[in-house]
Amino acid sequence: MANLTYIIPLVSFSLLGLIAGLIFAFRHRLFGARKQQNTALDLSTLQRVPPVGEKDFAGQTAIITGGGTGLGKAMALEMARRGANLVIASRNAEHLESAAQEIRALGAEVLTVELDVRKIEDVEAMVEKTLARFGKIDVLVNNAAGNFLVPAEKLTANGWNAVIGIVLNGTWHCSSAVGKVMLKQKQGTILNIVANYAWSGQPGVVHSAAAKAGVLSMTRTLAVEWGRHGIRVNAFAPGPMVTAGASANLQYNSDEAQALIASRVPLGRLTSAEEMAKYAAFLCSPQAAYINGDVLTADGGQWLPRGFLDLQDKLGA
Ligand code: NAP
Repeated sequence: MANLTYIIPLVSFSLLGLIAGLIFAFRHRLFGARKQQNTALDLSTLQRVPPVGEKDFAGQTAIITGGGTGLGKAMALEMARRGANLVIASRNAEHLESAAQEIRALGAEVLTVELDVRKIEDVEAMVEKTLARFGKIDVLVNNAAGNFLVPAEKLTANGWNAVIGIVLNGTWHCSSAVGKVMLKQKQGTILNIVANYAWSGQPGVVHSAAAKAGVLSMTRTLAVEWGRHGIRVNAFAPGPMVTAGASANLQYNSDEAQALIASRVPLGRLTSAEEMAKYAAFLCSPQAAYINGDVLTADGGQWLPRGFLDLQDKLGA
């Protein structure tokens, strides 16, 4: 009887311990084969990727906002040369038609869409027209932008709203409308054109800096939300380019201005839309299949602090 007093609690505790151990083991998958993680690199996929510069966009449909001028047009021509069909979209029909002629001359198909990215109904209509013409969307480049130099204390509410509306809201309108299509397709890539002042800030363009910072955050957020559905979202920060837009709005047109800008770039020069278009196209291409949620900065090192070099230059040391 005395023995039973000890044995019953002992057996009960042992049984409880066994049950707890089994629960732990199953929860941590200590029994049986673990589910295989899909982390292996599929080399056969890489071997199928054509080298940069060949027709690696063949059969793809790329939408580029602001694709009629400057960097947007250069990216459209680069992707057309590499086999893509293009949709270029902006407000000005003349910009679009002139770029479309150059794109057609490369043998690519092109759809021009007049729109204001600030209006979601314009953007949704662009997506419908694109699907009616090409049936799918592989690439979206959010490139359309508005900008002007203004001291922060002189910026009006209208000026602030115009730039935020085009850059931040416009990028969201296009990402949201095209993203829904890409989610159904289970593939696609979005590239957001930002600028290095998205993270450094820059006097004279507080509206644009704030908008681009928002776009960068949107990029990283969507990269995580949509990456698991086969959609890559990245940003690209080009360096100083003398485009018509930058000349008109940012006073890039004089030799003095360009020399001053070049003097602040460690590599000592400005860049061109054509040079930048190649990096942008890379990010949208199959070669960049594992790049997601990143920002590629191609500014010659412009945004980095110069440290003691300013003093050294001044003192001539
Ligand atoms: P750009 O030629 O002036 O490009 C801006 C484009 O946006 C134009 O094609 C314009 O076309 C379009 N656009 C403006 N408002 C629009 C709206 N409401 N709806 C639809 N489209 C609109 O200037 P860019 O220098 O090539 O700039 C291209 C991109 O690079 C921008 O995102 C800019 O912030 C960025 N970036 C430029 C530099 C530089 O040094 N140039 C440096 C860093 C980053 P329409 O007039 O026909 O509407």
